[in-house]
Amino acid sequence: MLLPGYPPRWYSQQVETWLDFMRMGRGHFHPARCKVCGDGNHNGVHVSQTGLCPVHSVAVMADNLHQLRAHDGPRFTHWRYKLAASVGAIPLDVLTGDE
Ligand SMILES: [Zn+2]
Repeated sequence: MLLPGYPPRWYSQQVETWLDFMRMGRGHFHPARCKVCGDGNHNGVHVSQTGLCPVHSVAVMADNLHQLRAHDGPRFTHWRYKLAASVGAIPLDVLTGDE
């Protein structure tokens, strides 16, 4: 039996706020479509956290591997810059302007 004025209005408002909090997302953005081909969950294709379908994630990984082995290409340049930045340095060709 509910008594008049019970549960108190502030209590029911807090419960509603808590339920809203439980329904909220947690800030984890997960891409729904591949950023290369546009396939996604609507086609039954899994999309990784980086926004790539299985086909394109393997292609990007192979491209990365080939560029690192060849010591050439934009992915290799990115790797060089980030590796230098990890120890607080910058590549020498940036200093001399020979990019
Ligand atoms: Zn794709």
